[in-house]
Amino acid sequence: MNKYSKPLGDLINIKSDFFEHNDRNLAMADDMADALLAQPLRTKCKICHTPIEGEKLFTSHKMDYYLCPVCSHLNSSHEDTDAFAQKVYIDDDYACNYSAADRERYEKRLEMIYVPKAQFLVDCLKEDGINVNDIRLLDDGAGSGYFVRAMQSLGADACGIEISTAQVRYANEMAGKEILRQIDADKITEAIKTTDRKVLSAIGVLEHIIMLDETLEAIKCNENIKYLYLSVPMFSFSALFEASHQSCYNRHLGGTHTHLFSDKSLEYMAERIGFEIAHSWRFGSDIMDLYRFLCVTLEQGGNPGAKEVLSEKFLPLIDSLQAVVDESGFASEIHMVMRRKG
Ligand SMILES: [Zn+2]
Repeated sequence: MNKYSKPLGDLINIKSDFFEHNDRNLAMADDMADALLAQPLRTKCKICHTPIEGEKLFTSHKMDYYLCPVCSHLNSSHEDTDAFAQKVYIDDDYACNYSAADRERYEKRLEMIYVPKAQFLVDCLKEDGINVNDIRLLDDGAGSGYFVRAMQSLGADACGIEISTAQVRYANEMAGKEILRQIDADKITEAIKTTDRKVLSAIGVLEHIIMLDETLEAIKCNENIKYLYLSVPMFSFSALFEASHQSCYNRHLGGTHTHLFSDKSLEYMAERIGFEIAHSWRFGSDIMDLYRFLCVTLEQGGNPGAKEVLSEKFLPLIDSLQAVVDESGFASEIHMVMRRKG
């Protein structure tokens, strides 16, 4: 199955922070760039290990980026290391008592963002002859438990593992039962290596893993895992729009995203772990990013009137413009189901 696009819906309100707090978010991303610049130079491609040499492709928000000549993966000039992770992954301070408004926000995010992701996986596995009630899934890097909850709501047996104690507590509190287990970073590989679950999901996770080679090896070695469902950020228009708008917050490339995938690097990764790409769903937020950069730049230039007109004329076009980008294959995000070969 190759699926494209999804309507924007109310997403613009969920992401309004990016519009309203550009300077604050930009400063945060700049600090993360400084932390990455303090790390050693990256010597080889994160995915295929080809030496990084020759000319950079471009510079964006302080960082140089190199396109791998073999797998087209986009790598930052500096390496993501444990020291970098220590600096940038700060455990959010989740309160212990949640208001009704918190719960409402959680449910809305679950419904709008995560249920469609779960439904896609359920549809793909159905095509492979697996009924939703027979799906047993482990979600790696489960965060606040959204994806596990979404899978459960569709009838699957799903649980998750997560490093952050605060997020596990939050997720379990929101679910009203234990859906996630806290596991220390150095035990995650072991958990993947030994799971008896057939489906492993990693939604927005692989790009953050420092020891990605170890994780991939664990998946390869555990023959119980027949399907890998992943979502990763792609080298796409978003990255180029960001490079051309240096005074705007770079959501996609920069911050904790130190490298971006390509169709080729995903194929390379699948091959390396003995999997094949079975299904994909491309839907980016490239046009939304572009729209945000135009709005922010107009504001910065003292042009609020033009921003008003832009909003009125441009917003209704976002879904159709993004659909064109999605079908071009150069979109910011992909969801993919990989299937073990043989
Ligand atoms: Zn490569």
